[in-house]
Amino acid sequence: MRVPLLLLAAASALSAQTLHIFAIDVEGGKSTLYVSPSGESMLVDTGYAGNGNRDANRIASAAAAAGIKRIDYLVVTHYHGDHAGGVPQLAAKLPIGRIYDHGDNWEKTNPKTQAVFEPYAVLRQKYPHSTVKPGDSIPIKGLQVNIVAAAGDSIAKPLPGAGQANPLCAGYEALPPDPGENARSVAMIITLGNLRISDLGDLFWDKEYDLACPVNKLGQVDLYMTTHHGTATSGSPQMVHALHPRVAIMNNGADKGGSVKAWTAIENSPGLQDLWQLHFSDEGGKDHNVAEKFIANPSAENDGGYPIEVLAHPDGSFTVRNDRNGFEKTYRK
Ligand SMILES: [Zn+2]
Repeated sequence: MRVPLLLLAAASALSAQTLHIFAIDVEGGKSTLYVSPSGESMLVDTGYAGNGNRDANRIASAAAAAGIKRIDYLVVTHYHGDHAGGVPQLAAKLPIGRIYDHGDNWEKTNPKTQAVFEPYAVLRQKYPHSTVKPGDSIPIKGLQVNIVAAAGDSIAKPLPGAGQANPLCAGYEALPPDPGENARSVAMIITLGNLRISDLGDLFWDKEYDLACPVNKLGQVDLYMTTHHGTATSGSPQMVHALHPRVAIMNNGADKGGSVKAWTAIENSPGLQDLWQLHFSDEGGKDHNVAEKFIANPSAENDGGYPIEVLAHPDGSFTVRNDRNGFEKTYRK
């Protein structure tokens, strides 16, 4: 990853009101860094273990670019290797203030998940740790972070200002529920003044339904951090169109997520101005990927592990930047 972006760093220094976000490329996993205007930081997931510390190194590069020396709040959405795998490697690199997760592993009979969960469970005992429930919040100064789902449960009542009837629910096509970890993801709505962001981990289709139907419990957002990498079993039109994002950032890999189904639901979302992608999706091909300038890592030959950055402000305006080519675009409310 390129070193700190001078333009963004300067802009950041100019405004004490700026939320700085890095959608870090962990090759189809998830790791998103939020640095509050207060200077406190929240990292949502850590990508994979292994690969020569690739993902921990990329997180550390983003932290350095953001000017932070520690992760104040680490949220582990669930215990799959693409989210929780990299926690030990991250912990070896950066101090962590407190760890938040949904509790126990729901895939005890899955050896792959257990192999991720066991070292993680040992590690989290060494840190301050909280198990979150719907209705809780992460106490990062300068942001409001509402937990809306965790361990398979979702908020009973709509968030303040939300709760409108969702007419799309009539067209809902159910999928078989997921009995495992994806459906147990910690999911959150992040608010800075007039700006709202959804970051729902790998929440599954039926759990999205609980949040979106019959009333939209989450309300609308400005920025949609795609659920489950744009996999076809998440990102239902009932949820995405109710969220009504202006911009979406997809944490897909070349052959992970980035499904035609989820991509189409986003592109058809009313009010959407742009979708940005961490990778070109092989499944999407020429018809179901955005223009190359909006893609951080467009091919195997041109995969520098670049993140997508966001600088956001309490008035609801924000700038998205592709770190590969410096292309950026500002969205005013
Ligand atoms: Zn995942």
